[in-house]
Amino acid sequence: GELTALPDIEPSRLQIRKVTSPRPVPSSSNLVFGHTFTDHMLTIPWSAVRGWDTPQIVPYGPLSLDPSCTVLHYAQTLFEGMKAYRDLNGKVTLFRPDMNMKRMQTSAKRIALPTFNGDALLELIKSLVRLDKHWIPQEPGHSLYIRPTLIGTQKALGVAPPNEALLFVICSPVGPYYPQGFKPVALYGTTEYIRAAPGGTGGYKLGANYAPGVVPQKEAGRKGYVQNLWLHGPEHHLTEVGTMNMFVVFKAENGLVEIVTPPLDGMILPGVTRDSVITLAKEHIFGKHKLQGLPENLVLNERPVTMTEVKAAAAQGTLVELFGTGTAAVISPVDKIGYLGEDIVIPTGPDGMGPISRVIWKELVGRQTGAIPSDWSVVV
Ligand code: PMP
Repeated sequence: GELTALPDIEPSRLQIRKVTSPRPVPSSSNLVFGHTFTDHMLTIPWSAVRGWDTPQIVPYGPLSLDPSCTVLHYAQTLFEGMKAYRDLNGKVTLFRPDMNMKRMQTSAKRIALPTFNGDALLELIKSLVRLDKHWIPQEPGHSLYIRPTLIGTQKALGVAPPNEALLFVICSPVGPYYPQGFKPVALYGTTEYIRAAPGGTGGYKLGANYAPGVVPQKEAGRKGYVQNLWLHGPEHHLTEVGTMNMFVVFKAENGLVEIVTPPLDGMILPGVTRDSVITLAKEHIFGKHKLQGLPENLVLNERPVTMTEVKAAAAQGTLVELFGTGTAAVISPVDKIGYLGEDIVIPTGPDGMGPISRVIWKELVGRQTGAIPSDWSVVV
């Protein structure tokens, strides 16, 4: 037969079936992260024969899946996490959603799930958010967490690229991560488990990366720590914090202040927040956009950093701060790392933050909520 391109995701084909009785929107003070979902969801089926089929917005509810389908056996699943914010004038915005769409493609390619036009999916996500926008809490710091997911649904047990897949998007109203101000977390420098390895899948947002982290996190909790600090290799390189990227700030030689984050070597998830922190710091360093409160003599390096270096800096008083970054918490300061039987104390300010992250956090949240205009904020 003749080779013809299969249909891509097509927003103009969208069909909408609204709920007949909308659920009451819960009071935002009762929100537990990821427990409440809005009235509607977006679904787009794909098959190797038909390509991307009709996008549908339908009432939120259970999916019907054949027990043989591949996602249930081989974790053929990937996801994204992004937020919609409602600004003071009621305008709804997304933060750098193009980055999430790109990362979703990268994840899909890694596990042989179908790719698609990211702009088309984004348009459909906007339609969903518009329909359910009354679910976005009004209170400052609240937002709508958006979870696009792609699963392999072939009804067969072979380990192979699936001939059927389902893309769906659900939305969950969420409160601020730190309702009572910043609360620094204690990390357990984990030497008995790893999150990712060279050539593995740590750099992709795959479901398969997350289940194996639950037991280490519980064990860290039993030892009195909040999250795992994922280390790698014989030199114990710092990689990520729980499900966040990480940054560490040193007083360097010649009076320089050095911000360090591990490079994207395949073991690090390319976080949207990570990229935003790097971009803001660089814009300050190169004078494109000065951030008031950041030192003049700042440098930013994407380079490997070891526990030996962090421990020595803490002992010498040249460790300025250490923090995690991610969509959920934005910036998460760290005040302690349990490492090989001792606790390394990390400095934090009276508000729980460090001097660099405090400034960057303010700019970042300003841009996310629209208080600071920027092209990172995209109107829904
Ligand atoms: N690392 C991991 C493992 C994550 O799951 C996340 C959350 N998506 C991040 C880092 C932070 O990424 P982002 O800033 O895009 O939320």
